[in-house]
Amino acid sequence: MSLIRHVPELAIKSKALLPNGEDFDVLIAGAGMAGLYTAWRLQNDGLQSPQLKKLADARPDKRLKIGIVEFSDRVGGRLDSVIIDGMDNVPAELGGMRFTESHQLLNLVIRDLDLEGDIGPFDMTANSQFTLRGERLDEAAIRNGEPVPYNLEDAEKKKTPNELFNYAITKVVGPDALSYTDANWQWVKENFRYSDASGVYDNAALYNVGFWNLLYQVLSNEGYDYCWDGGGYNSNTINWNAAEAMPYMLTDFSVTPKYLCFKDGFHTLPATLAQRITQGPAPVPIYGGTRLVRFDRDAGGRLTGEVAATADASLRGRFSTSYLVLAMPRHSLELLDQDTPFFNAAPVQWNIQSVLLQPAYKLFMAYEKRWWDPELFYRGPTITDMPLRMTYDFGTEAEHGGAPGDQRALLLASYCDMQGASFWSVLERGKVHALPPSWSMTAAKGGAPAPESMCRMAEGMLKKSFKVDGKEPEPSERVGAYYQDWTQAPYGAGFHAWAAHYKASDVMRSVRQPLPDWPVFICGEAYSNQQGWVEGALCTAESVLEDKFGVPRIAGLPDLYPLLTPPPVKPGDDEPFKTYLLRDTPNAF
Ligand SMILES: Cc1cc2nc3c(=O)[nH]c(=O)nc-3n(C[C@H](O)[C@H](O)[C@H](O)COP(=O)(O)OP(=O)(O)OC[C@H]3O[C@@H](n4cnc5c(N)ncnc54)[C@H](O)[C@@H]3O)c2cc1C
Repeated sequence: MSLIRHVPELAIKSKALLPNGEDFDVLIAGAGMAGLYTAWRLQNDGLQSPQLKKLADARPDKRLKIGIVEFSDRVGGRLDSVIIDGMDNVPAELGGMRFTESHQLLNLVIRDLDLEGDIGPFDMTANSQFTLRGERLDEAAIRNGEPVPYNLEDAEKKKTPNELFNYAITKVVGPDALSYTDANWQWVKENFRYSDASGVYDNAALYNVGFWNLLYQVLSNEGYDYCWDGGGYNSNTINWNAAEAMPYMLTDFSVTPKYLCFKDGFHTLPATLAQRITQGPAPVPIYGGTRLVRFDRDAGGRLTGEVAATADASLRGRFSTSYLVLAMPRHSLELLDQDTPFFNAAPVQWNIQSVLLQPAYKLFMAYEKRWWDPELFYRGPTITDMPLRMTYDFGTEAEHGGAPGDQRALLLASYCDMQGASFWSVLERGKVHALPPSWSMTAAKGGAPAPESMCRMAEGMLKKSFKVDGKEPEPSERVGAYYQDWTQAPYGAGFHAWAAHYKASDVMRSVRQPLPDWPVFICGEAYSNQQGWVEGALCTAESVLEDKFGVPRIAGLPDLYPLLTPPPVKPGDDEPFKTYLLRDTPNAF
């Protein structure tokens, strides 16, 4: 019987419902990275904000009254690690698993929390293996001209899927695009106009163009399919905002940056933050298993609202607060009572609906020993068009400091997104729904042990994916398996992408306070310049603290580091402070 346990550090100690009638200065809804960071900064530096200082001065203890309500029983949101079969040295990262040196705010937080010793490299393969349309390929062979099973045009040949993305993007913006900084891209987003020979687009701003629509025009249909199948993530190739997609694709998945990770699991970060904020002279309480239900304004203009126990909707409590920070993604926002003056306002809906929801799913499988070729399939990603999509070898206990000779190996057997997630979701439940599917608390509880049907389905594909010289290897004894589908409530998506027809740089600013006369702020990864990354969650939170509360910038973060989008710089012009979305940057620590 396999032993699977959640890391205890993420568990919220207090599961008591918010006391009825509690009165806050700042109430934060959501204990993911954006919410925890906001609380930590306010605890340390909140009194440097003139408006918050006034509120604190009005209290007998001269301290700000801050609280966090959290839907689930754990902090961390989309950062979560589980330990399978007691493999403490190889945590299964259900959500975020890596970051880069270019994530300057995240690196600063790590330094401030004295967690630098907990960081190590997150190795990736230099030669990804592919199984596409039933054929085994690898990056080196593709570059050497090995034919791929797609009917590509001549100019599309000898390119890996990522290189084909680059080719498509440079075909639109020009060959120098590969070396553009974030500020150069901002200039492109604001000034570049796209026209095509067939007249579909005539001087169109790129944010009005869908990325799929664009790829359809600059690649052959087979070229697009090759990118879709071989890119690993389907969320990159959907019809999102082309202006945002292009720099994301170029820097994110095409130029391999130096990836880093937390050796004991990414949960170390939210767990440490939660520990800090709930202790010390001015502790911030975190109310676990408590969801924000609705909020409004009373006759005097003060925010009032209602919370409920997540596990029992009949248990309710009321609160009032001067400020409300909604540190949660789009679907979570849409689960709040929408029939209120705030959510009925067009600017609120316009802002909230500016991002697309991107389902994401991870399945981890642990084995008594590796049964795949460790050199050929080193780390990953190993990519296939089968619903597994991406596979990563997380290594063995022995390799990560466990007992020498402990060969148990952890495999991220499937990392998939968009419709791939739906393939697995039908296998995840029992045969009969006992509750309405939307009431499922599986995601909020942090995933679940994978049923046998899911494991067998995955192993059938893994055998094909790990085939060498036409021979499928046989799995060794499986010691545990665990999955998380981030598509379920309250997340609704693993990551988010800007929708076309939205000027993202404007929305990033307006969404933070969609109604100027309501002290309600929104932050988190969903509406950031680094969607899909913790850095995005932190930067939007920091931007709310600085611009909405008047808290000075966190010490050590360069003044010119852009929290949202940088000021535009025309390619070729001088730039005092260069940043790149993911590439190692000259300004990094
Ligand atoms: C599969 C996957 C892989 C990823 N990989 C990486 C990676 O390698 N590196 C990286 O940097 N990032 C990665 N990310 C992204 C990263 O995890 C997120 O960007 C980040 O954790 C988001 O933080 P957040 O605070 O914005 O939102 P969340 O983490 O979603 O936090 C929102 C919180 O609000 C709570 N909540 C929702 N509704 C309510 C309510 N009504 N009342 C109270 N609380 C509520 C939720 O329970 C949750 O705790 C990945 C994400 C996924 C899903």
